[in-house]
Amino acid sequence: MSDTHVRTRIAPSPTGIPHIGNTRTALFDYLLAKKYSGEFILRIEDTDQKRLVPGAVDKIYQIHQFLGLIPDEDPVVGGSYGPYIQTQRLAIYQKYAQELVNIGAAYYCFCSEERLEELHKNNPFAKYDRHCRHLTPEEVKTQLDSGAPFVIRVKLPETGFSTWHDLVQGKLSLPNNECDDKVLMKTNSIPTYHLAVVVDDYLMKISHVIRGVEWMMSTPVHLFLYEALGYKPPILAHVPLLLGPDKSKLSKRHGAKSVLEYAADGYLPEAINNFLFYLGFSYKDNSELLTLEEMVKVFDENKIQRQNAIFDIQKLNYLNSQWIKKLSSEDLFNRLKTFIPEDWQKDKAKTISIIDIAKERLFTLKDFVPGAEYFFSTPIVDKKLVLEQSSRSEEETNKWFQKAINLLENTKEFSSCNLHEEFATAQKDSGLSPREAFMSLRVAISGRTVTPPLFDCFVILGKEETLKRLSSIFS
Ligand code: GLU
Repeated sequence: MSDTHVRTRIAPSPTGIPHIGNTRTALFDYLLAKKYSGEFILRIEDTDQKRLVPGAVDKIYQIHQFLGLIPDEDPVVGGSYGPYIQTQRLAIYQKYAQELVNIGAAYYCFCSEERLEELHKNNPFAKYDRHCRHLTPEEVKTQLDSGAPFVIRVKLPETGFSTWHDLVQGKLSLPNNECDDKVLMKTNSIPTYHLAVVVDDYLMKISHVIRGVEWMMSTPVHLFLYEALGYKPPILAHVPLLLGPDKSKLSKRHGAKSVLEYAADGYLPEAINNFLFYLGFSYKDNSELLTLEEMVKVFDENKIQRQNAIFDIQKLNYLNSQWIKKLSSEDLFNRLKTFIPEDWQKDKAKTISIIDIAKERLFTLKDFVPGAEYFFSTPIVDKKLVLEQSSRSEEETNKWFQKAINLLENTKEFSSCNLHEEFATAQKDSGLSPREAFMSLRVAISGRTVTPPLFDCFVILGKEETLKRLSSIFS
């Protein structure tokens, strides 16, 4: 790689919001560029105007911001090779389309919609029959002079193979006759992906194209265009598919959401990056928490996995929970801002002390509020649940509660550590098991059977509030 200046690009089409699989490709592009101190570029491929989804471009920017995959060049920050939005580069493609026709690598096609529909009537995947490829120069001139609408198609070789060394797939060889004479320029003079991608990757000096394996069948067309124009093609890396746990192509049903939806569900960017990294790359036991900088260091483009990766939400949950534990409570407080009510935000000290004790048990940021509500509002507690947890009679449980109240009122120090000690002695004296004694108190103060450590909860609630809640059960 020593003589190549590395420039990678992610080139989403705003025909939808990229799902997590597309974002994995963006991560690999980013890591490769950063590993070799190169540039990572974001280009918007919006030539398919009919399928544009309003707002998609903004969402693409937001995904990159959220994950910290910040492009060195993009439509907003610009760069030396812009514009970075394809519809702002139409004149460039028109020039190239014309050049390809002039050198005999592309041809005018005047076939009507009706003719093409007829061709595809029985087989929607039927290739173009190359009807216009064989028009004489005179016939072409007559059609052009008459103002007949046309498209420009690539004139692929009819025999032979297109061969390349793919960084992920190894040596590949696809027969040219399996490819279609694809349209490069549509009737409205807007290019298709195939022309625009080649022209832009060349003009933007892209050294490596990492993209989904679904684009592999189009590669012979692209390589042919490079060769016809006399350009050296970039290094190609076709990354495998993401599959659902049932081994079918990842879909919404499996969790093929966009990164922004995961963000709204309380997943941290660190965890998502880490998760995407392990979906296609192996490092140690695939469970280390790695920052982006650490991933840059250990990433190796020659070791991207060739087999399809399975999307496992449990793994994402695991990494997210580990990252939540790793972050400081102050940092988590800031990240929780969109999830917590305003009054919790105002009471920052209290919220942070709850985060301190709750973060051990969180899988996502979204889990925080439901698990902490009882710190801010008195829960409705069912006495039956308290008794169920103590598994003693009402009389015995009541006795234990009176003892606990007494203890709290007279404790020498209202700290978690001291309460722990004093209550352990009292529990032993009372003849109750720890479970019977403490689970009943837990339910009484929170209405829940799962909370952070009981005496930490007492301390956050405060002596008065804890006493109030314990007293209310048998009053
Ligand atoms: N615009 C294509 C897409 O939406 C880019 C494919 C490529 O990376 O060449 O995925």
